[in-house]
Amino acid sequence: MSDKQKTILNEVTLKGTGLHTGKKVVITFKPGNENTGYIFRRVDLEGKPEIKALAENVVETSRSTVLFQNNATVATVEHVMSAVFGLGIDNLIIEIDGPETPILDGSSKLYVESLLKAEIIDQNAERNYFHIKEEIKFEHNGIGTCIAAYPSDELSFEVEIDYHSTVLGKQKATLNNLDDYSKEIAPCKTFVFLKELEILLNNNQIKGGDLSNALVIVEKEFTQKEFDRIADLFNKKHQKYHGRGVLNEEHMTFENEPARHKLLDLTGDLALAGMRIKGKIKAIKPGHFANTEFVKMLRKQILDIK
Ligand SMILES: [Zn+2]
Repeated sequence: MSDKQKTILNEVTLKGTGLHTGKKVVITFKPGNENTGYIFRRVDLEGKPEIKALAENVVETSRSTVLFQNNATVATVEHVMSAVFGLGIDNLIIEIDGPETPILDGSSKLYVESLLKAEIIDQNAERNYFHIKEEIKFEHNGIGTCIAAYPSDELSFEVEIDYHSTVLGKQKATLNNLDDYSKEIAPCKTFVFLKELEILLNNNQIKGGDLSNALVIVEKEFTQKEFDRIADLFNKKHQKYHGRGVLNEEHMTFENEPARHKLLDLTGDLALAGMRIKGKIKAIKPGHFANTEFVKMLRKQILDIK
């Protein structure tokens, strides 16, 4: 693999719905100039404000990673950023005509397919890397979350999750080479616990979601009648209740898909460091808050050496 910076050759457009806003959005990837990184552009707003995908522009992390700059917001950037980063793209313009990226199938698969269609090409400038020289660690006290980077010649990821649930307990995922990203990580869908879903639905916080863009984890026993009520919430046909487990198993690709999806989210958040990293990233119980706090620490060191 050459170590030149990369962008795409052609423009490519994707359409979908934002998960939390339920708004229809069009997203267009355009080639980016050398050394400009990833830039979102809100084409629906006056002056088409730009939002740089950098850790210092993160303003919210409660349900997704939200960026804000130049009086404009773009929410749920992690799955797009994961695809862009995972494919080795360094410079890209991401035009969007709404406040939130489309959820698509709940993974990065369709973003990857679009970007590959746009053809990834080398630019003239060499890539810069930030080498992890000594441990960098963010710990979220009390909840057992820890995101850390260690020296290594190559970038690799190791993620461990534990929801202390009989259905979703300890699970691990690894990515030792970005070349495996498209096949091993990109298709991994986000997941949600049914109990959370009911709360979100009742509070109107999840409008673009349906049973095809998230794995739904069922922990408690339901009666058929309760189960039918949940189907009604989604405007879905009633189906036979099969007991605890993953409600929509037909959408699942890997047995450890939830851990792999957390790795996907982590790569998307790491893209906000503003420079490619050489190091081993280890995450225990990651989430957008911890990920982005960790990336802010990296970013600080990157800015110090620049
Ligand atoms: Zn995610």
